[in-house]
Amino acid sequence: MQRTSPDPPQIPFSRRSSRPLGFYDLTLDQLTERMTAWGFPAFRARQVWGWAYRNLALGYDEMTNLPAALRENLAAELPLSTLATVRELTADNGETIKTLYRTGDGELVETVLMLYPGRATVCVSCQVGCAVGCAFCATGLGGLTRNLTSGEIVAQAVGAARRARDRGRALTNLVMMGMGEPLQNYAETMEFIATLNDPDGMNFGARRITISTSGIVPKIDALADEPWQVNLAVSLHAPGDELRSSLVPINRRYPVAELMAACQRYIDRTGRRVSFEYALMRGINDSDDTARALADLLRGMLCHVNIIPLNPVDVLPYERPDPAGIERFADTLRAAGIPATVRYSRGLDIDAACGQLRAKASELASETAAPA
Ligand code: SAH
Ligand code: SF4
Repeated sequence: MQRTSPDPPQIPFSRRSSRPLGFYDLTLDQLTERMTAWGFPAFRARQVWGWAYRNLALGYDEMTNLPAALRENLAAELPLSTLATVRELTADNGETIKTLYRTGDGELVETVLMLYPGRATVCVSCQVGCAVGCAFCATGLGGLTRNLTSGEIVAQAVGAARRARDRGRALTNLVMMGMGEPLQNYAETMEFIATLNDPDGMNFGARRITISTSGIVPKIDALADEPWQVNLAVSLHAPGDELRSSLVPINRRYPVAELMAACQRYIDRTGRRVSFEYALMRGINDSDDTARALADLLRGMLCHVNIIPLNPVDVLPYERPDPAGIERFADTLRAAGIPATVRYSRGLDIDAACGQLRAKASELASETAAPA
């Protein structure tokens, strides 16, 4: 493993309460409005947009065909990225790249880029911490500090696209499986998707994006009504209420039956398959009976189960089953007619503050490989 710690660039503002905070927080219309207010013609906004999202410029100084006065205004008023790179870690022969960012108000955020043959997937964070507090998850331990803005999520995606490009690769997939619960930061998540999807910008198809949720039922319904053809992954982890409530506390508010009904409505409305994530924990949710109960729950649904052998978190008591136990659980599901895949982690030797990020990052990547 190789570590680099470049000095983070100075961010020219501290925390501000009102949006937008930085360039990536703006829509093209908002940017145009700003720039015309400064006295520049509207076509300049489109030029800057192209530099930022097509050329993946690191700074305004790279935008060489813009008037110097405009570049100065932009640099003074609108930081391009509000995230500064604190550290980059690589693993798996350089094919897993984890970036630790610092936000303008000093919070730390993680992003992981995974390179595979023919595919490059980034796993982004959407919150600092998380309010859901799942029993086995490192992110949930300290509760929620704050939501990330859409621009802070966009910055992670643009940074990953740039890092992929530096290695001669294009970003093909994006999973919201880093820190945080995307459906508890719904508005920013939707803006983030809109920005990535913009045909004048990155033109990153929603079908290449996967949103992972612990099961915020009303927001699953809202998502089904959005124009975006995103993939939905639901972190199930247990087939029944008693066990699930002990692992995923939000289950007390949205129990399994309600969650399943919402998933079925999502499938009916979108025609798209739902993925269920299942973090397998020894002696907790890995018995044959639990596998059969899971199969009974999912039978007949347009779905797929991703079994993620637990990535143990130091301060938490949960363990990963042995390989034979993992295979037996998967086989029991398959024998009952439920498609199931075991996903092993990438970047295991990277020392991560957020245990789950690296555990989950490779998950679903292969399923979402189809270009939009
Ligand atoms: N908050 C969302 C998305 C981020 S977590 C959600 O919970 O779905 C992404 C995935 O990693 C979820 O399935 C989550 O349950 C799982 N996860 C969290 N901690 C883990 C760990 N220690 N080992 C394996 N998977 C973990
Ligand atoms: Fe939050 Fe997801 Fe971690 Fe649960 S697993 S605490 S929802 S980030």
